[in-house]
Amino acid sequence: MNKAIGQQQTLDQISVTALKGVGANLAEKLAKIGLFSLQDVLFHLPLRYMDRTRVTPMGGLQPNINAVIEGEVRACDIVFGKRRSLVVRMQDGTGGITLRFYHFNAAQKNRLTSGTRLRVFGETRRGSAGLEMYHPEYDLLDEAAPLPLDQHLTPIYPATEGLTQPRLRTLASQALTWLTTHNLRELLPDEVRRQLNQSSLADALRYLHQPPTDANVHQLMEGEHPFQQRLAFEELLAHHLSLLLLRRQMQTNGAPRLKSDSQLHSHFLKQLPFALTRAQARVFEEIAEDLAKPVPMLRLVQGDVGSGKTVVAALTALAAVANGKQAAIMAPTEILAEQHRINFGKWLEPLGIQLGWLTGKLKVGERRSQLAAIASGQAQVVVGTHALFQEAVDFADLGLIVIDEQHRFGVHQRLSLSNKGSSSANQRELRPHQLIMTATPIPRTLAMSAYADLDCSVIDELPPGRTPITTVVISEQRRPEIIERVRLGCEEGRQAYWVCTLIEESEALEAQAAQATAESLALALPHLRIGLIHGRLKPVEKETVMAAFKANELDLLVATTVIEVGVDVPNASLMIIENPERLGLAQLHQLRGRVGRGSAASHCVLLYGSPLSHHSKERLRVMRESNDGFYIAEQDLQLRGPGEVLGTRQTGDMQFKIADLQRDAHLLPSVKQGADYLMAHHFTLCQEIISRWLGKSHVYLQV
Ligand code: ADP
Ligand code: MG
Repeated sequence: MNKAIGQQQTLDQISVTALKGVGANLAEKLAKIGLFSLQDVLFHLPLRYMDRTRVTPMGGLQPNINAVIEGEVRACDIVFGKRRSLVVRMQDGTGGITLRFYHFNAAQKNRLTSGTRLRVFGETRRGSAGLEMYHPEYDLLDEAAPLPLDQHLTPIYPATEGLTQPRLRTLASQALTWLTTHNLRELLPDEVRRQLNQSSLADALRYLHQPPTDANVHQLMEGEHPFQQRLAFEELLAHHLSLLLLRRQMQTNGAPRLKSDSQLHSHFLKQLPFALTRAQARVFEEIAEDLAKPVPMLRLVQGDVGSGKTVVAALTALAAVANGKQAAIMAPTEILAEQHRINFGKWLEPLGIQLGWLTGKLKVGERRSQLAAIASGQAQVVVGTHALFQEAVDFADLGLIVIDEQHRFGVHQRLSLSNKGSSSANQRELRPHQLIMTATPIPRTLAMSAYADLDCSVIDELPPGRTPITTVVISEQRRPEIIERVRLGCEEGRQAYWVCTLIEESEALEAQAAQATAESLALALPHLRIGLIHGRLKPVEKETVMAAFKANELDLLVATTVIEVGVDVPNASLMIIENPERLGLAQLHQLRGRVGRGSAASHCVLLYGSPLSHHSKERLRVMRESNDGFYIAEQDLQLRGPGEVLGTRQTGDMQFKIADLQRDAHLLPSVKQGADYLMAHHFTLCQEIISRWLGKSHVYLQV
């Protein structure tokens, strides 16, 4: 079979059907997990390994380990307990063990007669009568035909339905045989490999599929073996390159040059009730530099909660308007969009700028007139939710998109919005500039890799006069004390939030819980003015409640996590969060950021339900100890891993076969360096690396 396929062919060009035993049926199953070529089979790497290379004496067995044992059957009986089982007693001269099978047949029982010698592989556990193995694999031993032990560690592959481990092992081992006669394309240029001191790809793959018996198992298990690291590097490189490619594709389009209008700019600043912080001014300068270029800006602005990102967005929108372009400001929730509308209105309308407004919940007539104003260009700055994405929305001349609280939007959503810019016929090639603002700081290493397509600015300073928030962690059992504390605080003229959380992602249940809490608090605190806000309220109802709270017509606002993002009421200085252990650190930090916005000292009470797990205790400790979003994000990364920290953007965009962003963070600087080098000098290789690791579809992403 090998002969039919020329030796000059590389393994990515040879189909899995070249392997023995792979017919159309199996090929289809393999295709489901993305394995089409022999190269794909080789890159389907083991998750873990088992050591089946040596026999452990029974006397030396510990509970909960995988081991190979050999010995003689002493007894074999069917036992009628809760469930019928076949119980086999074995001994080897150093000790004994019991094997237990719940699924068995008569033939099996008949073979396992007393005196039969067996080799058994399985996991030990402590049973009622000493060590046991449940459903181990076993072979009958025959003195005349000795059975060789495995020569290398046994790989365990990520499997799917219909693909067993033995099947995957034979496929991999056949593919390794092909590797002796056919080449795998080495995609890293020599100079890059030399610089990184890297082994050849073939050696790495051979080793990882069949590690020798003297391999450092611990290193392999942890993914820290140099061969694993070599592949992890290439995989991270592939992800990084895919983002850089995306960026390049975006930037092959032109963008309108937006020069800042100094008169309008200073007019805007003069009417603000505060002066920009140095960090705000610096970040806007970075933005202005991008805007003046004829390629689309792709910039991420990070800043801790309350660092004042909104005003930076408004300044950016102003630059678009000054050049006769429209700006779209997109927020992830109705409440936040509403708040932006109020702020932008306050800041921009006095300068004669017309605001548009678009969310999914507008009435038909209102929606029609907003769409018309957007299409005619009369609406110069349009604030809204993701309703701005919809096809029916047609901008006259969109020059800028601002996406606030980016972690909720995926990269593809962002791209679809950027298409809005090219709708007008005479501007076919021009794309809007993009400014993305994250609510939650992202650890540096993670940002470097997850947002490689974006330039990054950091607002690393809070406006003056903020007093840090004091956070306490208190058991739910002391609820009455906390209620009393709310009463005292509000009587002194402070305002408070009481936040209810739920495990289920059900808005309805969450709303119900908040309602019940509001009612019981109203009973306990009859003299306070209490409001309630949750996701089930109509937009006007939400607006009314928020406006009342903002105007200090309510003392206490009982809320669900709908207030998580962006809500800004500086007089509120006390927050109670019920069951904070249910939320992630980033989310808690966001919530807590609703207080500490004015000059009064603020407090946050984390009212947990006991008992707390060790993990939850750790997380709440981080909250108590720090107000620094960047530090909290680092801790979140360590405690929960990158998937949780990055949120939805992660799904689909950042799934790794072998790399681990946390474990392999030390590789990222050289990944970045290598990626820049390849983009500049080996562009075609970039596309091959991406398609090897992420599949072909990624290379031809439609922008
Ligand atoms: P975030 O970065 O969390 O989105 P906001 O833009 O909502 O923060 O700003 C938080 C609060 O700080 C708002 O009340 C805003 O008006 C105020 N603010 C913003 N910049 C400054 C500044 N330079 N000086 C004083 N207050 C400011
Ligand atoms: Mg904000």
